Amino acid sequence: MNKKMIMTPGPTSIHEDVRLAMAKPITNPDLDPEFYEFYKNTAEKIGKLMNTDNEVLILSGEGILGLEAACASLIEPGDKVLCIENGIFGRGFGDFIKMYGGECTFFSGDPRRSIDIHKLEDFLSENNDFKLATMVHCETPSGMLNSIKEISLLLKKYNILTVVDAVSSIGGEDVKVDDWKIDIVLGGSQKCLSASPGLTFLSVSEDAWYSIRNRKQPIIGYYCNLNIWQDWYKKKWFPYTQPISDIYGLEVAVDRLLKDDKKFKRHERIANAVRYALTESGIELYPKDGWSNTVTSFKTPGGIKEEEVRNYLVNNYGIMIAGAFSDLAGKVMRIGHMGENCREEKVFMTLKCLDKALRSFGIKLKKEIHKEFINCLD
Ligand SMILES: *Cc1c(COP(=O)(O)O)cnc(C)c1O
Repeated sequence: MNKKMIMTPGPTSIHEDVRLAMAKPITNPDLDPEFYEFYKNTAEKIGKLMNTDNEVLILSGEGILGLEAACASLIEPGDKVLCIENGIFGRGFGDFIKMYGGECTFFSGDPRRSIDIHKLEDFLSENNDFKLATMVHCETPSGMLNSIKEISLLLKKYNILTVVDAVSSIGGEDVKVDDWKIDIVLGGSQKCLSASPGLTFLSVSEDAWYSIRNRKQPIIGYYCNLNIWQDWYKKKWFPYTQPISDIYGLEVAVDRLLKDDKKFKRHERIANAVRYALTESGIELYPKDGWSNTVTSFKTPGGIKEEEVRNYLVNNYGIMIAGAFSDLAGKVMRIGHMGENCREEKVFMTLKCLDKALRSFGIKLKKEIHKEFINCLD
């Protein structure tokens, strides 16, 4: 039995009720009318979580599938696409834009700060001939949150379609799809929702559907093609057999969040205390502003190898935290305090063990991390 405490920014630990839901007997999802109702209901609940009346689809594959499906379905060869980025996932959108023939223009921000809305405003006043723009709500590797509300409303003034990766924010940070007029927002099961990895979901606006329906060239591929989902409910037809057990789990995970009216407060309070505790102990947070309430990314303290610290935590305490990848590899360490991980006792335990681990590697801390955490929560 794997009894590790996974305090990573996804996958996150799963509540027992979610696990049990995944163990329920299954039906044939293609042939059972009840399953069509169940799928639709679950999609609508996700819509509620994202504050949208737009259609929501649940796709069989994790977050990257949602991201690729949005690009594949909206982008035609030669389309001008703006890639707004200040981190690894934001920049990564560019690869998908190019893969589907888009002409990609990057608007690059400071990797340690949220996207500067005034700079973007200046940029757009001279360059606004884009069909769509991509962006990331929470840049998970750097622990940074972008103001997708301001960015999306600004882009809408220029009639630019918006695609937002909110994989590591939905459920932990408020996402108001309709008020903020975002055309496609995509999330994943394994982050703040605390369901098992394997599902992505996305909301698709009327404008996005219009654009998808009125393409000059057909969408390349099948699995990433959102157009094949048109009228699935009316036709009682799915493009492929649905991962029924995963969706059973997802529904319970979403229910848990919908009835938890303190979820955003809880994320804010715990994230704030984590940042306070690390900073007071002399550890530098990676972002200089725009700190996310779902994940904290901090610079690896002086001269040590973050991988060794992480191994120490797993081997001695069974606690997993994360490093990062790409240009942040080795430079930062990350604690995921999202979804089911966003509980005082789990975060306290993690910080207490991190404190011990860092000291064992000879790092001089100014304070005891876990004690500062508690002090801040009081
Ligand atoms: C986790 C995550 C994804 C999904 O990517 P995987 O690493 O394959 O799970 C996409 N976007 C963001 C911002 C994420 O945090």
